[in-house]
Amino acid sequence: MRYISTRDNSSALPSARAIDLGMVPAGGLFVPEEIPALPEVKPGESYQETAVKVLSPFLSDFSEDEVASCVNNAYTGESFDVPGVIELAQIGSGKFVLELWHGPTAAFKDVALQIMPQFMKFAKVKSGNSSHTLILVATSGDTGKAALEGFRDTQGISIVVFYPHGGVSEIQKLQMATTEGANTHVVAVKGNFDDCQSGVKELFGDEQLRKAAAEHNVVFSSANSINWGRLCPQIVYYVKSYFDLVEKGKITSGEKIDFCVPTGNFGNILAGYYAKEMGLPVRRLICASNKNKVLTDFFKTGVYDRNRSFHRTMSPSMDILISSNLERFLFEITGHDARMVNRLYAELSETGKFDVGDWVRNRMASLVEADWVSEEEVLNTIGTTFKEFGYVLDTHTAVAVAAANRLSDDGTPVVIASTASPYKFSGDVLAGLGGEKPLDEFESINMLRNRSNTPVHRAVDGLRQKAVRHDEVIQIEKMRETVQGIIGTVS
Ligand SMILES: *Cc1c(COP(=O)(O)O)cnc(C)c1O
Repeated sequence: MRYISTRDNSSALPSARAIDLGMVPAGGLFVPEEIPALPEVKPGESYQETAVKVLSPFLSDFSEDEVASCVNNAYTGESFDVPGVIELAQIGSGKFVLELWHGPTAAFKDVALQIMPQFMKFAKVKSGNSSHTLILVATSGDTGKAALEGFRDTQGISIVVFYPHGGVSEIQKLQMATTEGANTHVVAVKGNFDDCQSGVKELFGDEQLRKAAAEHNVVFSSANSINWGRLCPQIVYYVKSYFDLVEKGKITSGEKIDFCVPTGNFGNILAGYYAKEMGLPVRRLICASNKNKVLTDFFKTGVYDRNRSFHRTMSPSMDILISSNLERFLFEITGHDARMVNRLYAELSETGKFDVGDWVRNRMASLVEADWVSEEEVLNTIGTTFKEFGYVLDTHTAVAVAAANRLSDDGTPVVIASTASPYKFSGDVLAGLGGEKPLDEFESINMLRNRSNTPVHRAVDGLRQKAVRHDEVIQIEKMRETVQGIIGTVS
């Protein structure tokens, strides 16, 4: 399988090279030249077995043994606290919650970020890259910690994470600040997530900086979902959860279902789109947003308009106005129309908006339905779901459950992607359960445990005792200088 650019500004490259680079050097994102067919999944096979089958055709320049080695190193009993990596819970007739947060940092991003460093190690060797790799990450909270844990102490690779100062939860901040490992850097930026993400994109495009790095034998790469190595592992759990439902007798083989995904950067839901295009029986994808409803408006009107105020919500990992992976989606659904993508993204950077027109809008509507959920509804949904089913949702998953409750009423089964453990956002979850929200997050964690009678996720348990090792805060303009400083220390 070769990878082409959404902007037609790169030659087709093997997957190792696409993963090693992270994004297209001239701008644009790598996508597979074609979408492979769904492999045969046998009932009862392990997550690891399904993962090898789903991933192999996307990584055809890796041997099957190499893919299996990546899978087995990533999805161990030590990293994931359930034997099957993911779990399905049921909340009512035909509604299922796909728990993707059993990894080391309590967010779904672990599923991808535990395996991506494994891909990278092979990808470096295969692409003849003997330089030191510096991974640049912008995070709205969860990617940062998941990437830090994934890459911590990985030979030949360092990582720097930029997060919005004051824009992540107390627990997310502590998780990142206490990261160990000699190759990890964590920096708070005085701006919001979009500032961090745009800043990182600029660093990637900075020719001078790239040259300065090369002099120290350092190259940059990305662990954000703009990297294909981050995206493709997410396809696996759409496939696996479908066949788990078949095996449990909840659906019949071939029956179409919906997936509802709490969306920010459009990475997770895009993996669902790829699963559908591979042939998984998916009727539609539901794109659920919080108050930052730029995607909902886009799917309804065909106009993507980021010129609006940014809201801080209880689901900070979805507080995003520029959804990077939408570019891949537009490229795919238009039959690889790079000219159109170039035009739209030039417009976006000039005017902050673009209009895809009726044809594309109708095409999108046949695949994706979108809706957004208010803060009040998030709290209500957490409360009613607990009351009716004894099940505790985190604030991001609650956005998706609320959207699914509203949109799925015709009996088609729906799987809701649960992207974080409720313990990662205990205070707000407690508020949803109707309790007082204590000022102290650790107090909230205790109260949530008592209230819900569920075990505290190990990612937050014991966090208070850990030493803070990263406390740097910088202005947006200093991101470049910070990276320059790190380059000097890794070589
Ligand atoms: C990252 C994240 C999301 C958004 O996922 P995208 O792939 O960016 O759309 C939703 N919920 C949680 C908890 C996350 O960490």
